[in-house]
Amino acid sequence: MGQKRIDLRSDTVTKPSEAMRQAMAHADVGDDVYGEDPTINRLEAEAAKRLGKEAGLFVPSGTMANQVAILAHTERGDEMFIHRDSHAYYYEGGAAALWAGAMLTLLDGEEGLFTADALREAVRPANIHHPRPRLVSLENTHNRAGGAALGVERMDPVMAVAHELGLMVHIDGARLFNAAVALATPASRLVREADSVSICLSKGLGAPVGSVLVGNRAFIDRARTYRKWLGGGMRQAGVLAAAGLLALDNADRLQEDHQRADRLRNGLREMGYDAWEPSVPTNMVMIETPGLAEPLVKAALERGLAFGTMGARRIRLVTHLDVDDEDIARALEIFQELRSQYRAG
Ligand SMILES: *Cc1c(COP(=O)(O)O)cnc(C)c1O
Repeated sequence: MGQKRIDLRSDTVTKPSEAMRQAMAHADVGDDVYGEDPTINRLEAEAAKRLGKEAGLFVPSGTMANQVAILAHTERGDEMFIHRDSHAYYYEGGAAALWAGAMLTLLDGEEGLFTADALREAVRPANIHHPRPRLVSLENTHNRAGGAALGVERMDPVMAVAHELGLMVHIDGARLFNAAVALATPASRLVREADSVSICLSKGLGAPVGSVLVGNRAFIDRARTYRKWLGGGMRQAGVLAAAGLLALDNADRLQEDHQRADRLRNGLREMGYDAWEPSVPTNMVMIETPGLAEPLVKAALERGLAFGTMGARRIRLVTHLDVDDEDIARALEIFQELRSQYRAG
């Protein structure tokens, strides 16, 4: 029997379902650069509605969503405040410097979020010696913080200070719906105080491609221009938006992914693995390794289990739409077999 590989590297590895492929094949399409793709228009409106914002913009990737947002919020040389573990700083190849010419000021704080006080201290008064402070970028859930979901009691005070100081706020919500489910808070509430939000349809939600950026009408109009400049203006891309519309309906099932991640985390802990738990966990499990993580990755792969590392001594496991209970049970069996190797470091 050819055993299926269990892929816990990321929630981006899902394949479109049969229903999704059917919806894509039959999507009503037009030229979106002319604003004439009905399916894209519907997806943009639907995403905006779910997030409580005026308008949306479909883009090919989460990275483009973040970068277009930074471009639309800033002028060259403007200062953007961001946690040093955030995707838009850590994993986007310096794109904010390349495209927007933004100056990034890095802040620290628990679970990928700095405090309102830390932000207040970092923002300097208007002065010819200082860059113009302009934008705060937050992330929810927070990837490098182990998928931590950040509640309004932590996010809102930071956004309030940002606005008090005249800054705009962008939320990288690649996995925002994971946060909404884990916190039992509507996504629209989580981002109520934000000026713009990006979501990924291709992470936990199962679309093959696509992200949506939302905000007020004037912001989205500017963002649309930057998307074109970056080469993200697509034509009959309603075939992709059709998948995105179905993906939004998958937001409600993310709880299953979180339950499987919990089962995985608890099982690993019982075996003696150092699996840490964010204050509000979602679909990720992080394991600190006594020695290098890479040999464990290799040994697991030989047994049919794929996962990635986050730094030299940390493993990241991500549950998603294409992982079921049996896969979790098998993954735990494989970790049982790897225990001595883990301990040896
Ligand atoms: C994946 C991810 C992105 C970028 O998405 P891509 O579609 O891979 O460009 C942005 N932010 C966070 C937090 C992510 O996890």
